[in-house]
Amino acid sequence: MKHFPIFLSVKGQRIALSGGGDAAVAKLRLLLKTEALLTVYAENATAEIRDWAAAGRLTLIARSLRAGDLAGEVLFYAADEDAAEDARTSAIARAAGVLANIVDNLEDSQFITPAIVDRDPVTVAIGTEGAAPVLARAIKADLEERLPSHLGLLARVGKGFRKAAEALPFGRARRAFWADYYFKAGPRVAANGSVAAQQALDELLFEHLAQDAAQGHVAFVGAGPGDPELLTLKARKALDTADVVIYDRLVAPEILELARREAQLIDAGKTPYGQHTPQDTINEMIVSHAKAGHQVVRLKSGDATVFGRLDEELTACDAAGVAYHVVPGITAASAAVASIGQSLTKRGRNSGVRFLTGHDVAGFADHDWRELAQPGQVAAIYMGKKAARFIQGRLIMHGADPATEITVVENASRADQRVLATTLSALATDLATAAFSGPALTFLGLSPRAAQTSLTKIQQQELA
Ligand code: SAH
Repeated sequence: MKHFPIFLSVKGQRIALSGGGDAAVAKLRLLLKTEALLTVYAENATAEIRDWAAAGRLTLIARSLRAGDLAGEVLFYAADEDAAEDARTSAIARAAGVLANIVDNLEDSQFITPAIVDRDPVTVAIGTEGAAPVLARAIKADLEERLPSHLGLLARVGKGFRKAAEALPFGRARRAFWADYYFKAGPRVAANGSVAAQQALDELLFEHLAQDAAQGHVAFVGAGPGDPELLTLKARKALDTADVVIYDRLVAPEILELARREAQLIDAGKTPYGQHTPQDTINEMIVSHAKAGHQVVRLKSGDATVFGRLDEELTACDAAGVAYHVVPGITAASAAVASIGQSLTKRGRNSGVRFLTGHDVAGFADHDWRELAQPGQVAAIYMGKKAARFIQGRLIMHGADPATEITVVENASRADQRVLATTLSALATDLATAAFSGPALTFLGLSPRAAQTSLTKIQQQELA
């Protein structure tokens, strides 16, 4: 690419042109569409240029260009149709540091003006670097035909409607809405002006929202760690309008209470036989309810994007063409760390934190134990109860200090929250004694803030 296409901001900027004949008129016609301030230097300007000057659309200076004239201009056009004169004026431009274009002289021009399809604010610029003007003209003609003539008006009105269109879920639904506006509903009314276009947008949005509802939709909602007050407003809204709520084992009953009264609640955590529901079955359930036109809320504990097998369910929706959006939630690590008065990161201690799982599909999950065994490391370990002895063994084997602080928070944010402050060497035995039955989050490298200060033994016990 010898020429780099850019859109230059010329509002209020100065552009000068030398020449008063046909070539000048052709360029000026184009330049008059911009919001630039135009100055034309010509001893003999055509009537058309003189008319523009009289109408105040450009400034006409009835003499040839002189050195010093071009200070403060952003662009210069040499349009005298005379090689010697063009060379003289473009040299003045160059000396003034102004980019120059010499009409019909690609070689000596610093920039070229592309073929333009103008549907302001939609502008298509076509360039062939002078290789094939015929091709450029053909592409331009093709686009002129293809792009509705009212596209500019539609785009201007559409721009002001972008916020309102966010009522539609991001992605497929919103794209369909805009395609409908620009290529169907919009062109039908555009001839009647911007008020009609605005009205068409309002109606179209209404239609699409209804259609979207009829088509079903899945909201993947993070339910937070358990305390209903830690739900987001978006999560509440989704629960308020749900037809079907498919929830995981760890979602607190108080949160399910908030679902719309008529909503069908489906426990995806268990089958009637007490087994885990296979992931494929859950995927099918989500998709089939959405396809039946339901507003589905897929409720996951904490944040859906943290150890939530979210991607498998999104992929299933994608494959089935089901629209969805994801509502973030407060993950267990955030709730647990808040309860012990610590930060996940701290200047001078750890500049990074890891979210680990004790378990993965293959059993106990393997990690970079050598790195984790270093002093100052902080990790939030999910599903770490059963793996406690394994994790303890691996870390000590890789040289971790047995006195490394460990805190386990069970039922974080819930009324029955319990905190166990221990050390790496005592982790497995202390956990066995505590006999936690609820979900628990294990922090490597953190102890409750209170345990580090001068709390009394009793307060410490209460905290534990
Ligand atoms: N998506 C969830 C995590 C799901 S994995 C989130 O972002 O929190 C399940 C694990 O999360 C549990 O084994 C436990 O380690 C942790 N967990 C979930 N809720 C918890 C809670 N209220 N208190 C402590 N740990 C919790």
